[in-house]
Amino acid sequence: MLSSKQRTVLFASLMSCSMVSVAQQAPQPSMPQPVALAEVGVDSTEPDTQIVEALKQISSERIQATIEKLVTFKNRNTLSSNDQQMISQGLGVTAAAKWIQQEFESYSKACAGCLQVKTDFFVQPVATRVPTPTPLTNVYAILQGSDPQNAKRIYLVTGHYDSRNSDTLNTKDPAPGANDDASGTAVSLECARVLSRYKFPATLIFLSVAGEEQGLDGAKHFAQMARQQGWDVEAVLNNDIVGGNTTPGDTQQRKDTVRVFSEGLPASAKPEDVTRIRNLGGENDSASRELARYVRSTAKEYLPNEFQPTLIFRRDRFLRGGDHTAFNEEGFGGVRFTEFREDFHHQHQDVRMENGIEYGDLTKFVDFAYVANVARVNAATLASLASAPAPAANVRIDTRGLTNDTTLTWEASPGGAATRYQVIWRETDQPYWQHAMNVTANSTSITLPISKDNVIFGVRAVDAKGHSSLPVVPRPSGRIEVPGRAAAASSGM
Ligand SMILES: [Zn+2]
Repeated sequence: MLSSKQRTVLFASLMSCSMVSVAQQAPQPSMPQPVALAEVGVDSTEPDTQIVEALKQISSERIQATIEKLVTFKNRNTLSSNDQQMISQGLGVTAAAKWIQQEFESYSKACAGCLQVKTDFFVQPVATRVPTPTPLTNVYAILQGSDPQNAKRIYLVTGHYDSRNSDTLNTKDPAPGANDDASGTAVSLECARVLSRYKFPATLIFLSVAGEEQGLDGAKHFAQMARQQGWDVEAVLNNDIVGGNTTPGDTQQRKDTVRVFSEGLPASAKPEDVTRIRNLGGENDSASRELARYVRSTAKEYLPNEFQPTLIFRRDRFLRGGDHTAFNEEGFGGVRFTEFREDFHHQHQDVRMENGIEYGDLTKFVDFAYVANVARVNAATLASLASAPAPAANVRIDTRGLTNDTTLTWEASPGGAATRYQVIWRETDQPYWQHAMNVTANSTSITLPISKDNVIFGVRAVDAKGHSSLPVVPRPSGRIEVPGRAAAASSGM
């Protein structure tokens, strides 16, 4: 087994006889020589003081004000954009969109116009939960990256501002949606308010979408737009039901953690991708899963032990979906934040008392201090990613011959911000990265005395201050499986 103490193993001398014979059969004159292992801590960077300072400004009072305001629109069902009575009373989803836009504009005013506030307006065609063509507005604010070389990389936070009660078509009766999903909208807005006071090399987008309850309609439209326009969206943080529901008498809720859901097999995987993932054992290393691990390690760095995420290696909860999936389907890595324990009496329910149970998604069940902690995890992740270099490009693992060493190659991180790379790895049955070693910035390959059969590798780019990119798990540079049983038999497997 792999030992974490293999720090000084020099191993040109360890090359096995079989490896030598393979090399003789297929000479590879430029094959890199294995180097000594000198491990560093896998989560050992120094916290960035700017990020620490930003997190202190996340305010539970501001989050409370946002949630309470959104509830005053009475019913934010997406279909209320066709309800003239609601519109004339300044209620419903249309008024809510307008208010969110004004909030973003007020944050922008406070930072001398640093945010571009935009709407993505379209008419949602008839669908299962959309009986007539329905105007729908996504509202978003862009904090353009300060470095032209890195500004095209985008990190996005979102929550949905539409709500529903027991009837998905009801646009008039109260649908407060305080937790689902004024809480997630408040996270996106609070990240915008606080992070817009700073500059980051890469671009942040703060999004609030509608149509989630009708079928992820707003997020689908936005994700398709991003794909069609070639946006380089590297990460999507979707916050949906992050209110830390507090039901009197519930002893099983946890206020010290938020669940982070991530898909394993990407929703966008084509059949050839599935074949590659199967052959690599890559089921636990989607872009979304790497993002979830990044959220975890960032929270370890910036948040106290009293509030840490719980990663759920699953796309979403049973019987439920969310907007991150709309982004996943367009090929973007994205995760979902949701409180630890949901109370289904307080979601998608008419406000009422029945058999002594209080139903409805009411503000009084939301814990604003909890939402603020979720916002801190989001803001720390966004700020870390937008401060970091771009990931290394075209990362490959050499699979052209049988060897117990591993050779990784990559192309330089675009944008010029990387001052070193880190090769990271973990055993195949381990959930989180276990090992890391530095590689100087002018290197683009390394050979390690570790069998690629036994571990999962990744490469990440790191800047001078220790900001780390998302890791890239290498693709094979040769074939990775024997083509069939006959070949397996003849090769003595
Ligand atoms: Zn929701």
